[in-house]
Amino acid sequence: MSGGARALRDEHYRQPMDAPTRRQFLARGATWGALGLGVAGAALSGCASTTPASSPTTTPQRPASEIEWRRLARSLRGTLVRPGDGAYAQSRLLFDLAVAPSRPQGIAYCASNDDVARCLAFAREHGVAVTSRSGGHSYAGYSCNDGLVIDVTPLSRVLVDNSSSRVVVGAGTRLIDLYDALAQHGRLVPAGSCPSVGVAGLTLGGGVGVLTRRYGLTCDNLVETTTVLADSTTLTVNDSTHPELLWAQRGGGGGNFGVVTRLTYRTYEVPPLTLFSLHFSWAAARDVLMAWMSWVPRQSDDLWANCLLESAGADGLGVSVSGVWCGSPSRLDGLVNAFIAQTGATPTSRFVGGDDYLTAMAIEAGCSSLSIAACHLSGEGAGVLSRAAFHAKSSFVVAPWSAARVENALRSLEDLAGRAPELGAALAFDALGGAVSRVGADETAYAHRSAIADIQATHSWSTYSAPSQIAAGAGWLRELATHVFEPADGAYVNYIDPTLDGWLDAYYGDHVSHLSRVKRWADPDDVFHFAQSIPLRAPS
Ligand SMILES: Cc1cc2nc3c(=O)[nH]c(=O)nc-3n(C[C@H](O)[C@H](O)[C@H](O)COP(=O)(O)OP(=O)(O)OC[C@H]3O[C@@H](n4cnc5c(N)ncnc54)[C@H](O)[C@@H]3O)c2cc1C
Repeated sequence: MSGGARALRDEHYRQPMDAPTRRQFLARGATWGALGLGVAGAALSGCASTTPASSPTTTPQRPASEIEWRRLARSLRGTLVRPGDGAYAQSRLLFDLAVAPSRPQGIAYCASNDDVARCLAFAREHGVAVTSRSGGHSYAGYSCNDGLVIDVTPLSRVLVDNSSSRVVVGAGTRLIDLYDALAQHGRLVPAGSCPSVGVAGLTLGGGVGVLTRRYGLTCDNLVETTTVLADSTTLTVNDSTHPELLWAQRGGGGGNFGVVTRLTYRTYEVPPLTLFSLHFSWAAARDVLMAWMSWVPRQSDDLWANCLLESAGADGLGVSVSGVWCGSPSRLDGLVNAFIAQTGATPTSRFVGGDDYLTAMAIEAGCSSLSIAACHLSGEGAGVLSRAAFHAKSSFVVAPWSAARVENALRSLEDLAGRAPELGAALAFDALGGAVSRVGADETAYAHRSAIADIQATHSWSTYSAPSQIAAGAGWLRELATHVFEPADGAYVNYIDPTLDGWLDAYYGDHVSHLSRVKRWADPDDVFHFAQSIPLRAPS
């Protein structure tokens, strides 16, 4: 590997370099590791300015004085970071460096429900806009604003209860810490790939990952939350108490209804896991993607796979298919061979191998050569992972695409590679279906039960990238949105997109009115307001 996005990715994930096929496999880091994200040396920006400074109902009654901010700080078990504090610059950082900076008046690292309740009371009293933050990966930067950021990072305990097959997770927990704690008990929760993503943001929007077809979305396994509402009331939310709020928290998007401080999930015994990865030359891209779209939905729930079309700078265009099988390597071997036969192409590399759960999750995270402590963002303890500058658009595959649509997608990536050869860009298809499709359409707020895959188009860059290259990437995303993605196919709220027209319907489909009803109940003054928050009244 050399140059372009792939070099940047290796820098980011610091992958081991052993046997070639193993190396290629380990370096992929599932979809996200392979998207070229992680831009060493990119200029640090801060939180988003896309969030309105305050909602219509939070007009300042009595702006907080310095003395009152200090009083708030003293009242918290956690810490309050203010402009001028040494930790302020780091505390403002989100994952996506492309998000324009804003300047919170305070970032409260809350260590208890009471801390959250006090922050909300302070915000109400002084008309300060609030937002909640867990892992800070909101693509639009909605977890940061110019007011008060309620950051739940200190709430990061994981308690695995083998007797009830449940795990109680603090809302500030990062995915890698959840996987690490579960692995020690031989249990799993299906969740996403990126190690530094926060469990709260991921779960509230759905949560797709490599075990999704077998065990469902993360939100499908959510059985209870502790939630602090805007009026500072702390609720236990489950199927018996406040079931409507639990419904909304299963896919209705982060940041809308209250601050979640604790989440309880069903867990499962870890099965044998086998991982695979195939690389093909670009000449085979059409056949591989067509074969993948017809092959994946016909597989048992035990198989998850993605298909990645990538323009990786000096490495040029490439296509790969990789995945995770809940079973032994020998069975998977046959399935992989059948897939290869269906493509009619010969892979340039092929890897199939078993791994334990934590290793498998670390590989998918692109973190397999790191300690758990290091597998966090830099600035978070001993973390060494870099942030990235990127833009993205998402959609869903509701039925296998026509050859013409596949051609359009491929041509658009080829054109981009020609116009912006240094840019890292990728079109990633992640399989859905299986257990996801067996949850009733109205059982949760997640609105894409019938999709066979989600799609994400991403382009990323570094501070050294020419503006013209970045503009070419933006043009490519617009072109995909206009000529390849169908608005009716929807978009994934966890890949929240500040430029998306018709975002409410795209994220939530038929659930918009229901979500607005829950919003009116949970947050009648629209305190948790941001540019793409659930409205109090659904547009007619
Ligand atoms: C590199 C990368 C990899 C990713 N991989 C996956 C993946 O594999 N699968 C997948 O499904 N998604 C994935 N995502 C998307 C991810 O799920 C969303 O970005 C998610 O919203 C991030 O959650 P967070 O807590 O890290 O982010 P944050 O920015 O902290 O929060 C995201 C949203 O949730 C709200 N929120 C945060 N904490 C709370 C809380 N405690 N209570 C209420 N609301 C809260 C915020 O206000 C914000 O609106 C990935 C994103 C990135 C950047």
